[in-house]
Amino acid sequence: MTATALIWFRDDLRLRDNPALQAALDADLAPLPVYIHAPHEDGTWAPGAASDAWRHRALHALDADLRERGSRLHVFAGDSLAVLQSIADATGAAAVFWNRRHEPAIDARDTRIRRALRSAGLRAEAWNGSLLFEPWQVETRGGEPFRVFTPFWNAAQRAWNPRAPRPAPDTLPPAAALRGETTIDALALQPTRGWDAGFWQRWTPGERGADAALRAFIADGLQDYSAGRDLPAASLTSRLSPHLHFGEISPWRIVAELAAAGAPEERSAYVRQLAWREFAQHVLHHFPHTTDANFNLRFNDFPWAAADPQLLQAWQRGRTGVPLVDAGMRELWATGWMHNRVRMVAASFLSKHLRMHWLHGARWFWDTLVDADLANNTLGWQWVAGTGVDAAPYFRIFNPVLQARKFDPQGEYIVRWIPELRGLAPGARHAPWLATGAGRAATGDYPASPIVDLAEARTAALAALNPGSRS
Ligand code: FAD
Repeated sequence: MTATALIWFRDDLRLRDNPALQAALDADLAPLPVYIHAPHEDGTWAPGAASDAWRHRALHALDADLRERGSRLHVFAGDSLAVLQSIADATGAAAVFWNRRHEPAIDARDTRIRRALRSAGLRAEAWNGSLLFEPWQVETRGGEPFRVFTPFWNAAQRAWNPRAPRPAPDTLPPAAALRGETTIDALALQPTRGWDAGFWQRWTPGERGADAALRAFIADGLQDYSAGRDLPAASLTSRLSPHLHFGEISPWRIVAELAAAGAPEERSAYVRQLAWREFAQHVLHHFPHTTDANFNLRFNDFPWAAADPQLLQAWQRGRTGVPLVDAGMRELWATGWMHNRVRMVAASFLSKHLRMHWLHGARWFWDTLVDADLANNTLGWQWVAGTGVDAAPYFRIFNPVLQARKFDPQGEYIVRWIPELRGLAPGARHAPWLATGAGRAATGDYPASPIVDLAEARTAALAALNPGSRS
C-alpha cells in the first residue's frame, strides 16, 4: 500500500461491512481512522446527553477493535474541514472517505467539505453505510417522494437489491501520532452526574454489543416477533436501535443474518420495521424542515397548550398518575430506551391529553434516548401528534388505560417501573385511581389521580382540533 486514505468515522462506528473502509482497502490505500468531535456542526440538533454517553463507549469499542488489528482511532475536536485538511497535509493523504449521514445540517456541511477537499486535489467520496436504500433511490412513479409508508415499502421491495456484507479486515496498517490529536476521554462525553449508571447493565455499545444483540434476538425474539413486539413486558424486540443509529451494525447484515435464521414470516415483519427507519430517512431527506415544523400545515394554527413546567416535569419524571405513561418515562430515564408501544402512548399523552407541542416531547426524547435519531424521532413524534406524513389522525387519541389493559394485561411492565403499584391486583394497576381497599392504600406517594382528567382532556383536544364542534 502506498498512499493514505483518511477514513472519517461518524455514525458508522464499525469495521464489518463498512463501505468507506472497504473502498480504501479495495483501492489499495492505507486507511487512517479518524474521528472528529464537532457537535457545533449538528445545528440545532447537537447530540443529547444519552447519545454522548453511548458514543463515549462506542468510540472506545471501535478504538479497541482497531488496535486488535494494528491500527487505532485518531481523535480530534474542532472544525471538521480544518482538521481533515490538516491531517491530509501532515500525512500526504490522497483521499478522504466517509459514509453518509442525512441529517440536514450534516448533509449541507458534508457537501461543503467534499467540494473543499476536492478543490484541494484530494479524492473525497461518500458511501451508503447505514441504509438499505439511499433516501432518493425510492420514488413514486411521478418521480416524487413518498408521503405514505405502504406505497414506499412496496416500491422499496421492487427495488430490493441486497448486497453481501463484507467482513472486517484482519489487519490494518499502524500510523504514527498526529499533531493536534486528543483522546476519547478528553471529549468529556460522559454525563457528569452519572445518571446513566444503570444503562450499562443492559447495553454494550460497539460492534460486539450489536452482534450480541442480534444473536440474542435471533435466538429469543424473532420467532415471536409479530405477536410479541407490542408487549412491553416481554423482551421480544431486537433492541438494535442504538446500534443501528451509531452504525455499529449494517442493515444489510441484519437482513442477511435473518435470512439464514428461517422464520420467513417473522423475518418479513421485522424487515418491515427496518423499512420504517428507511422511510424516516426518506422523509427527513425530502422534507428537512420537519425536524422543527409540522409537515401538515393545518397544524400551524393549532392551539397547543402553553407548556406548563409542572405538567411537563410530571411527564418527564414519570409522575403523571397514568401508569403506562409513567412506566415508560421511568424506563426511559433508567435505561435510555423505551418500548415502541409505550413511546406512542407517552407521546400521545403529552401531545393530546396535555396538548403540548410535540417538540417539547421530541426534545426530551432527544436528550434521554440512547437511540435518539433525528429521522426516527421526528417521524415518531409527528406521527403520534397527527402533524406528520402518514400520521395517525389527530382525533385518534390513545387511551392510556385501554392500551395498558390490552398490551400489559397483568400490569407486569407497569410494576417493573412503578414499584409503588405492586400491592394492587393485576387488573387494578392500569387505573389505580379506580382501585379500593388495602392495595390502594399501599401505593405510597404515587399520584392519587391523573394530572388531568382523561375524558375531559380528550374532549378538550378534540375541541381544539375542531373549534366548531365545541357547542
Ligand atoms: P425493533 O422492533 O426490534 O425494530 C427493529 C428496528 O427497526 C429498530 O431498531 C429501528 O431501527 C427500526 N424501527 C422499528 N420501529 C420503528 C419506527 N416506528 N420508526 C422508525 N424505525 C423503526 N427510533 C429510533 O431509533 N430513534 C428515535 O429517536 C425514535 N424516537 C421515537 C419517538 C416516538 C414518539 C416513537 C413513537 C417512536 C420512536 N422511535 C425511534 C421508533 C421506535 O420506537 C424504536 O425504533 C424502537 O422502539 C427501537 O426498539 P427495537 O430496536 O427493539 O425495535
